[in-house]
Amino acid sequence: MTLTTLDPGIGMTSRRARERLIQRLIDAGIDSSEVLRVMRTLPRHLFVDEALASRAYEDLALPIGHGQTLSQPYTVARMTQALLEHGTPDTVLEIGTGSGFQTAVLASLVRRVYTVERVGDLFERAQERLDALKIRNVRYRHGDGAQGWPEYAPYQAIILTAAPRGIPRALAEQLAPGGLMVLPIGEGPRQHLVRLVRLARGGFGHEILEPASFVPLLAGVA
Ligand code: SAH
Repeated sequence: MTLTTLDPGIGMTSRRARERLIQRLIDAGIDSSEVLRVMRTLPRHLFVDEALASRAYEDLALPIGHGQTLSQPYTVARMTQALLEHGTPDTVLEIGTGSGFQTAVLASLVRRVYTVERVGDLFERAQERLDALKIRNVRYRHGDGAQGWPEYAPYQAIILTAAPRGIPRALAEQLAPGGLMVLPIGEGPRQHLVRLVRLARGGFGHEILEPASFVPLLAGVA
């Protein structure tokens, strides 16, 4: 019997699978060495159910329960790169903790992450995962992220991993001057990834990055 047959599907193959994934991200235009380093080292298989662990290093979105998904690795990398492009922010507000994978990516790159999730069960499990990985520079909140988290505002960067129909006003107001917000906007197949900048002289600028496909931002808590 070879070692591979004893393997549950991630151990022996994971290094190769991870390298393949990183190459795929590079081919797709991810060129931030910091983002690639974090994507290479974080154990994505620990953010999904065991039954899906063997697929964790494919460039796929995976279900995490409650009708929600762990975003595709390319999307996580693309959004993170877009958020860091003008320099590494000190604080990031994340709306839609989900599995906590994007949270872990951000926490590896910035001083502090504030993350808000509306589904109590996902909120608890993400916190347990990041605690187990000894990721300590994250504050968690169970609430409706459309309201942001005013207590710690302003944030140098804000990221949404669920799509509103337009830019939530409360979030725009919690962005620091010069800060960036990266978010999907729109409904169904007509979504786009957008980067908003709060101009230092007042007002906002925005650019459309590319088409996107996210779950919708929902109101209230569950
Ligand atoms: N970044 C996550 C993606 C999860 S999918 C990951 O990589 O796993 C989007 C998440 O946004 C879901 O967990 C969903 O429950 C959450 N969400 C949707 N609307 C929300 C809202 N108004 N406030 C906070 N979280 C919200």
